[in-house]
Amino acid sequence: MSRTLVLNATYEPLGVVPERRALILVLNSRATSLEDSDVVLHFTGGEIALPSVIKLNRFVRVPYRHAVPLSRRALFARDGGRCVYCTAPATSIDHVIPRSRGGGHTWENVVSACHRCNHLKADRPLKDLGWRMRSIPREPVGAAWRVLGTGRADAQWLPYLQPFGVIEASA
Ligand SMILES: [Zn+2]
Repeated sequence: MSRTLVLNATYEPLGVVPERRALILVLNSRATSLEDSDVVLHFTGGEIALPSVIKLNRFVRVPYRHAVPLSRRALFARDGGRCVYCTAPATSIDHVIPRSRGGGHTWENVVSACHRCNHLKADRPLKDLGWRMRSIPREPVGAAWRVLGTGRADAQWLPYLQPFGVIEASA
């Protein structure tokens, strides 16, 4: 893990930066380290752990709510890492209305699916199959998703992300 979770002064998750950039923010008194990573830098006369989570010392205004990037990782997290049709571990992305029938690649039309269901469904609409989804697909909301769409969340980050959106610690 070579990235650091950055929290606003209010603990709202803002994003992710490289660990060394996070360390510079701490050394310049612009941020405070809340959690150390297991990477320790040694230098003449001492050593210092690179931070895993930092909090900015001054509040930064976030101008608007960013749309959550639609990525495979974020989609699987939204759906709990499970196939929405049969709850087997998700391995693929399914377009509820198939792309061949005009379905979009949008949060409202993509779901996590297992290989088997995706293969069985092929390009048929759900009503032809008599299948149901466990929930209506929607764009996730909450500041935690600023971080989740960008890559893997470190286990140390989860307690800081959970208050700002539902997070599954799935792979
Ligand atoms: Zn399935």
